[in-house]
Amino acid sequence: MSLTGPDSVRPEVEAFTPYTPGLSIDEIQARYGLSRVIKMASNENPLGVSPQVRTVVERHAAKAFRYPQGGNPRLVAALARHHGLDVARVVVGNGSDELIDLLVRTRAVPGRHNVVAFTPCFSIYALQSRFCGVELRQARLREDFSFDYEALLGLVDAATALVFVTTPDNPSGYCPPAADLKQLARALPAGCLLVLDEAYMDFAEDESAHSLLPELHAFANMAVLRTFSKSFGLAGLRLGYALLPPLLADYLWRVRLPFSVNILAEEAGLAALGDASFREETLRVIRKGRETLSRGLRAVGCHVWPSQANFLMFRPPADAPPARDFFENLLRMGIIIRPLASYGLPDLLRVSVGTEEENVLFLDACNELARGPAAG
Ligand SMILES: *Cc1c(COP(=O)(O)O)cnc(C)c1O
Repeated sequence: MSLTGPDSVRPEVEAFTPYTPGLSIDEIQARYGLSRVIKMASNENPLGVSPQVRTVVERHAAKAFRYPQGGNPRLVAALARHHGLDVARVVVGNGSDELIDLLVRTRAVPGRHNVVAFTPCFSIYALQSRFCGVELRQARLREDFSFDYEALLGLVDAATALVFVTTPDNPSGYCPPAADLKQLARALPAGCLLVLDEAYMDFAEDESAHSLLPELHAFANMAVLRTFSKSFGLAGLRLGYALLPPLLADYLWRVRLPFSVNILAEEAGLAALGDASFREETLRVIRKGRETLSRGLRAVGCHVWPSQANFLMFRPPADAPPARDFFENLLRMGIIIRPLASYGLPDLLRVSVGTEEENVLFLDACNELARGPAAG
């Protein structure tokens, strides 16, 4: 081992390419000299932070010199109450990203176990598996981005530690009926954990038809991930949680870094759970905006996939600039959306639902791009 060549790090790390995040507003303002830039790229809450949460965070800023209480017991209790589950099932983390990482590292032995997911999918499952040196197997989604369970099950064997399924799915917005996922859970070997990543579940039109969370206790091999990054509007504070079989939850608590959820995130999470009216307003704005955007994009000639999440995946019209240029042209006009090349979908784009005003600005820009040659 050297300290200068490629062998200065583990082989898994040497070949690593980092997560591709959405571009930031500051970056684009500086690059194009724009006074106003809107970001509809990272599925954040368009209403921002709840005013109640903001007050609480400000009030607790003076406590930043203290370590958080080990195990975040108040937040865990509040989440257990919120979902009607036993506290022994709840683990909180630095975003659900941390919980994905912990699940891989806690369950999968490198060289022996494998992890199964669909492709394309949220890249953190693949990145953390690779970092861990664990084999990742991926089943192609169907042509229409629905789930091919047979293909998925075809990759599962006795050495499969985890199966990750995102519902509603990112980047397509596809949301399978709960019954499908129940069948999948029953078809998996008893030792394989089905992890349902429900980061966007509360945006679904009818959550009860899609979420298995209320039936979690009936399945010994199922876990659900949720996050405060989307509907709760706390992406920058990093807070997510897993609802797990109690034994596994206990193991995750043993290995989680002791203070990965900081005191401001904890207080913000508690306040956000208590602010029902902000969440209701968020859900109303998202569901309405999703309709507006979807109708507007179709009117422009885009192909839009049905979505139960707070974003839409679409293909620009055939006579408009191709996806990459469509995206770049929007950037020049001060609108950041998400190209999907990093998901292996270079012809497609994803836009997050914005405020009413942002949605209008975005649709106007799309109209302009679809009508004539590239603007700018
Ligand atoms: C946004 C997102 C998350 C949430 O990640 P955090 O680390 O909680 O911010 C999880 N899964 C998927 C599929 C996502 O798109």
